[in-house]
Amino acid sequence: MFVYNEKFVSKKEGYYYSCPWIEHGLVFFKYKLAMCCNCGHEGSSQPLIRNNFIGQRIDWERIFKVKDMYRKFHKKGKFHTGCLSCPYLEEKQWDTSRYIDNLYISHWTDCNSKCIYCFEANNPEQFKGKRPYSVLPIIKDMQERGILRPGGIISFGGGEPTLLDEFEDIVNYLLDNYYWGIRVHSSGIKYSPALARAINEIRAYVVVSVDSGSKETYKQVKRVDCYDKVRETIRKYALQTTFLGRFLVSAKYIIIPGINDNVQELDSWMKANYDAGLYTTVLDLEEGWYLQNRNNIPEHLYQLIEHARKQAKKYNSNFELYERLQNLMNDKAKNKK
Ligand code: SF4
Ligand code: SF4
Repeated sequence: MFVYNEKFVSKKEGYYYSCPWIEHGLVFFKYKLAMCCNCGHEGSSQPLIRNNFIGQRIDWERIFKVKDMYRKFHKKGKFHTGCLSCPYLEEKQWDTSRYIDNLYISHWTDCNSKCIYCFEANNPEQFKGKRPYSVLPIIKDMQERGILRPGGIISFGGGEPTLLDEFEDIVNYLLDNYYWGIRVHSSGIKYSPALARAINEIRAYVVVSVDSGSKETYKQVKRVDCYDKVRETIRKYALQTTFLGRFLVSAKYIIIPGINDNVQELDSWMKANYDAGLYTTVLDLEEGWYLQNRNNIPEHLYQLIEHARKQAKKYNSNFELYERLQNLMNDKAKNKK
């Protein structure tokens, strides 16, 4: 459904509000194609392109006609309800050529971890019996038709991407055809040689979820006994990095209050990252807890984040907070003034 908002009617000649995903994005979800995968805003849904999709031949003319329809509405200040308050909406002169450069492959069909904060892990029937369709023939089709262009971002997420039968082939195909900007969120339980190649060639960014600085806490959070294996994967990926690509491998720590929100655990995690040769410190906050407690964040969490920031400096590491935490820290700083 589209709704009119006067605020989004551009007064500048040739300009209109849109986003990189509506213009040139495509997401492969379990049984549908969508414009994007962003849902952390008020509209909180991803505009649909096609439902009941299980890998059928794609009519590209139709896809681009849908994108043209969105453009037509946007020029009149009408927006899909799923896009309400989306931070990606921007007023500019968009390139309306027919190509895709933002791809997201998010099958949600399998994972080798059982994170305590994961909806799918807590509802295994969401995975059970689901089969991923093959995306590689579609990528090849796009490449041969000149529809897929390098220069954007090609992301894998949703379940564990390295478990997809075609994961290695897709990554190698993209590398062989000169794509870059590949992003993968992985549990790190399975090592991927193709991903290692992409890191070595400075064409991929990988974030491995660890959330702990010890075997015991890892087991408590992930409910699988794979801490050493994951640490080994991280070390092997880090060995592929060069000076230029030194920020391309990250071990992420999602703070889960009551489990890993203490200095000792965090310090062990940072030390293990340093020993593995990482130059990154990436923190996030568990979403379910955040949604329940965002108006009452305990002081020790702010202190923990400040502590991590100082430690990162000591280790000469890049420091990154995911969106939720960054917003919390910004609000805290504003309230201080
Ligand atoms: S939800 Fe945001 S990123 Fe997604 S299509 Fe709408 S404006 Fe673009
Ligand atoms: S790694 Fe991701 S998909 Fe797998 S259980 Fe954890 S949160 Fe869920």
